[in-house]
Amino acid sequence: MWLIIRRKLKTQDLIPYWDVSSSLGSVCSLCELTPDSHVHLFFECPFASDVWNRMRGLAGLNASNSNIYDIIHDIMPFVKRRTSESVVAKLVVAATAYYIWQERNWRLFQKGKRKVDQIVDCIKTVVRLKLLSCKLKKSKSGERLARLWDLPDAIFI
Ligand SMILES: [Zn+2]
Repeated sequence: MWLIIRRKLKTQDLIPYWDVSSSLGSVCSLCELTPDSHVHLFFECPFASDVWNRMRGLAGLNASNSNIYDIIHDIMPFVKRRTSESVVAKLVVAATAYYIWQERNWRLFQKGKRKVDQIVDCIKTVVRLKLLSCKLKKSKSGERLARLWDLPDAIFI
């Protein structure tokens, strides 16, 4: 997330135009429509946006659009709290960004191609496993999220 916030990932828009030998391709490997960039990959790309649209409800961020910088702005007010909303939102945003970046690289280097459903399943699994190791404060919205993520009561302190 730090690299995304700082726009330090090596995206296609940052490759010098004279570098024609680049192995990073010239169009986004997810949608094959336009060169990728931080804003495009996270999550304005049609493919990434499909993944994010499936995840944002589970992040409690239904009102957030598909721009990672707007999403970070939306979670900033509660990012430091240890509430379940905060923990779930941060985990889902970070895991979604991670799996989109991983899928982009897998496709770029021909390591395989997953469908939106498969990536969504990966994100859900990894976030749920992480949540099972958390201790969260009990609250009404926390209980709602726990039902959404099928979490046991034991995660609440
Ligand atoms: Zn794309």
